Amino acid sequence: MSRVVGAKAPTPWLKLRQSGEQHLSVIRILPEAVANKIAAGEVVERPSSVIKELLENSLDAGAARIEVAVEGGGKRLMRVVDDGCGMNHDDALLAFERHATSKIQSAEDLFAISTLGFRGEALPSIAAVSRVALETRHASESAGTRVEIAGGRLRDVKEVTWARGTTLEVRDLFFNTPARRKFLKSESTELGHIASLVTHYALAHPEKSFRLSSLTNEVLNVAPVATPRERVYQVMGGQTLEQLVEIAPVERRMISPTLPDAAEDEEASPEAARVRLHGFVSRPEIQKLNRNQIYFFVNRRLVRDRLILHAITESYRNILPPSVFPVALLFLELPAGEVDVNVHPAKTEVRFRHTGFIHDFVRDSIRQTLVAARPVAAFPIPRGSRLPTPDAEVAEELAEEPPLMRGAVPPPPAGPGRPAAARDFRLSSPHPEPYTGRLPLDPAVAPYVPLASTFAEPARGAEVVPAAMREGELPPDLRPLGQVEDSFIVATNAAGMWVVDQHAAHERVLFDRHVRLRQEKKVEVQRLLMPIIVELNPAQQVTFQEIAEELAANGFEVEPFGQRTIAVKAAPAEIRADDVERLMLEILDTVGQEGRAITLEVLRKKIAASVSCHAAIKINTPLDRHKMEWLLRELSHTECPMTCPHGRPIVLRYSLKELQKAFKRI
Ligand code: ADP
Ligand code: MG
Repeated sequence: MSRVVGAKAPTPWLKLRQSGEQHLSVIRILPEAVANKIAAGEVVERPSSVIKELLENSLDAGAARIEVAVEGGGKRLMRVVDDGCGMNHDDALLAFERHATSKIQSAEDLFAISTLGFRGEALPSIAAVSRVALETRHASESAGTRVEIAGGRLRDVKEVTWARGTTLEVRDLFFNTPARRKFLKSESTELGHIASLVTHYALAHPEKSFRLSSLTNEVLNVAPVATPRERVYQVMGGQTLEQLVEIAPVERRMISPTLPDAAEDEEASPEAARVRLHGFVSRPEIQKLNRNQIYFFVNRRLVRDRLILHAITESYRNILPPSVFPVALLFLELPAGEVDVNVHPAKTEVRFRHTGFIHDFVRDSIRQTLVAARPVAAFPIPRGSRLPTPDAEVAEELAEEPPLMRGAVPPPPAGPGRPAAARDFRLSSPHPEPYTGRLPLDPAVAPYVPLASTFAEPARGAEVVPAAMREGELPPDLRPLGQVEDSFIVATNAAGMWVVDQHAAHERVLFDRHVRLRQEKKVEVQRLLMPIIVELNPAQQVTFQEIAEELAANGFEVEPFGQRTIAVKAAPAEIRADDVERLMLEILDTVGQEGRAITLEVLRKKIAASVSCHAAIKINTPLDRHKMEWLLRELSHTECPMTCPHGRPIVLRYSLKELQKAFKRI
């Protein structure tokens, strides 16, 4: 539009400008260099986004071997070497022009994209915000070409001897956009993102070899294998593989109103309307605190997709508690015309033509896999509530299995922590609700203020205000009455009735203690009879190296053991030996997923939170009066008795006033 206006408009504004008078028009077409920098803002968010574009180019070029080397978390240098088709001299230069691509030719091609790239934006965008050197040779030419570009300016072009394929070197990312450079995280965080990205592309292409190295470390090195399963083993190790269930390729014809003949006549369009899913999902015992371990590929393109996340959550309904997530590696393949990949500049989102069909297909395929794998699941469906899904039977089958199987099947390893605790705990009443709306059961943090002020009203409340009751503090005079379901302590004092989550309460007590002991360098350590060998994935390896010292100060004596494993020889005293591995992986995952450069203080808190969560008494544990009294007393001495280190409430309360109101006494 602006081009047309600019061309057709009479030129008085030009004249005005020349004569120094007021500007009437303020719109102009940006120079190419500026446009590229703007595009870079969308395409290049951080080093791993550069690696993503370069990997995709190498894969599109048919490479069988891809090597990635990084320095300074990719901020200083990223180099991707491939043995793909390479480029001839002219193409090597053209590749850096905006919208220059060999992958599509016309707008129609946009509806059937079979390559990972197609926008022709990546190379010019990257070259606009870094110093790039490209070396490449196409089979049709005897010499190779070297092109150097810095900040979008061509610096040098020359002939080089070059074997085959392409090397792209990107140095000093954002050197000319300091504001963006400032947003980059620590080297290890950025390397972690790169490691995770390369790992997942390696998982999507088992037939190719991948290598990722930093200056000090070979993070990943995998040779071609025949099956996805072997690739998972190479990249993640046998322990992870054991936690996963493989979704054997499931194929289905797309049946939808817009594809009438597909339903009736399979032969009519055998190719056009088939969709296929394979991959891996975690067994129900595996519970992650966030979605970071869910990876979804559409036609081997790594994408984020809310529809699919929803489908995955649905398939784990009543298998996993609501706030935890599985691990999933899903590969969906469907005809290019069924999916629009041109919806996001970084190509990280897609739009399906038949969203409902894809959603249900993914959900059902995962669920059937889980049913077939006979998970020892633990969550009875709340009585009276049926799933609003067509396959509620499947879900019920899943849900009903555990009681039948108890005794017959060995329970999963009785490790402490959420999974074990979850085994017997009824999901149906995680947040008990009083039977009338008039008696709200609130987290005690928030209502403290109203409560205190209520009791401060002189007439009624004076005699019942406990002396020590102040905002955020737990009164020291609580008397335990008993437990609900061996999980929640019910206690009273003059202020009303209190319900305390025993696990969260103990977690808080242990957390404060661990933080204190760490500060005093007095963490109690236990030597393990046998070192525990823990396998790490590449991202975990990177995190481990970063935090090894702090782990040691927290009572973990750990040594590298082979290329991808560590040996834990000692751990904090309160941790059970059979829980050490899970704890170690949890710490590495939670720290690794921290999006920003983590401060030492935050790191210490995260470690303390994980340790205390694993050491705390579980729900479904009977406690005698002394233990309950001890716990309530200790809790009242903690710095923050109302919320657990993960931010969940510890204490709920019915105030006396609310009770009186509910019984219509006031
Ligand atoms: P796109 O991938 O969207 O086409 P890019 O800017 O990423 O755009 O790349 C531009 C072009 O450069 C590609 O279309 C391709 O022809 C060529 N190219 C880029 N990287 C490679 C590579 N590693 N090997 C061969 N050709 C490449
Ligand atoms: Mg590309």
